[in-house]
Amino acid sequence: MNPFENAINLLERAAKKANINNFEVLKHPKRIINVRVPLRRDDGKVVFFEGYRVQYNDARGPTKGGIRFHPKVDLNEVKALAFWMTIKNAVVDLPYGGAKGGVAINPKELSERELEQVSRNFIKEIHPFVGPNKDIPAPDVYTNDQIMAWMLDEFEKINAGSYPGMITGKPLDIGGSKGRAYSTALGGVFVLEEALKEFNVGKRVAIQGFGNAGANMAKFLHDKGFKIIAVSDSKGGIYNKNGLDIEKVIEIKQKTGSVVNYSDAKKITNEEVLELETDILIPAALENQITKENADKIKAKIIAELANGPVSFEADEILSKKGTIIIPDVLFNAGGVTVSYFEWVQNLYGYYWSEDEVNQRLKEKMTTAFNELLKIHDKYNCNLRDAAYILAMQRVLEAEKKRGYI
Ligand code: NAD
Repeated sequence: MNPFENAINLLERAAKKANINNFEVLKHPKRIINVRVPLRRDDGKVVFFEGYRVQYNDARGPTKGGIRFHPKVDLNEVKALAFWMTIKNAVVDLPYGGAKGGVAINPKELSERELEQVSRNFIKEIHPFVGPNKDIPAPDVYTNDQIMAWMLDEFEKINAGSYPGMITGKPLDIGGSKGRAYSTALGGVFVLEEALKEFNVGKRVAIQGFGNAGANMAKFLHDKGFKIIAVSDSKGGIYNKNGLDIEKVIEIKQKTGSVVNYSDAKKITNEEVLELETDILIPAALENQITKENADKIKAKIIAELANGPVSFEADEILSKKGTIIIPDVLFNAGGVTVSYFEWVQNLYGYYWSEDEVNQRLKEKMTTAFNELLKIHDKYNCNLRDAAYILAMQRVLEAEKKRGYI
């Protein structure tokens, strides 16, 4: 099943639980932009990559979502991610629709100059369709604040003006927000703390993926007294049942490029990280990591989805039957887009907030959304993912109705 089919299955399941019938509009993206992204390699040869921007739904406001650079990017993946952005933005009640973009490229094989050129060339191709009041990109897997800066610069050159609200996740020096760099993880921390008041399962944590989302999560939880027993990256995982020294793991990752070079732990595979005896499992890498093949082997009591779509539709059904609590991606990782929204608001105002102000507002948004999901979970006797989809559907469909489309 491709990620988009996966996403639509989840939508249909939730619609059934709450007897929602008029959701056809949510099964189709509003606009798909497919472009050719050229790059002159350092050796002078010109090569081309597939680039996509999917603007899924704009009933609640301009579309918003990240841009991913990864060799496995394809249209179905970008459609699924754009759909999830629509759901996510509605769950945390941001005045946005949903979008996502991607270029099928391996940035690790590019020089700095080549990476800059690909970033600029992607914007050259999609610039008529993006802007502060149309569609606002942000970072995602293997893109970062520097790439956002190049993209903004290209957009401003083309449009001859200053448009800081065109893109978020920017460096602070050119209109970024304080707190944005770690907001995805911090938003998850706020939700997890709220969830543990409801479901007190214990404090052992395993994390798959050690990038922006996963490493910051490990650090926050470690500082708050959780025991991080395993982490992993694309090269493999490390496990110590007594807990890892996360400061040291971060240092090793920075110095050597991988967590596997940390010495005070047993080396394990990425699959083993998922199957460990732990209280909380946090997938923070890519989608479809827990599928019907390994769902039965998952022992965690809570799965908190920091990655987008890490649990397949079939695995979700198996785990829900088993009683595993899944805190869905569309809430758990929404801290990133929430602070992106704050960044955009600050850009439009030209007035900037303190780090405390940003984090306080983030806490309020995330805990409110979690408690709204709990109410729906009680009302419809459904899991938290269905609750999130029901809440989002109600909000988006109401906006579609007011606009006269349904
Ligand atoms: P990143 O590029 O900073 O890090 C990705 C990490 O995953 C790296 O440590 C990489 O080594 C690891 N990885 C890659 N393939 C792996 C595999 N097969 N097994 C284990 N680890 C693997 O990306 P990120 O920004 O941390 O994003 C991670 C996930 O979080 C993605 O699903 C992304 O969509 C989601 N997310 C990120 C943000 C954000 O603001 N960064 C916001 C919302 C959602």
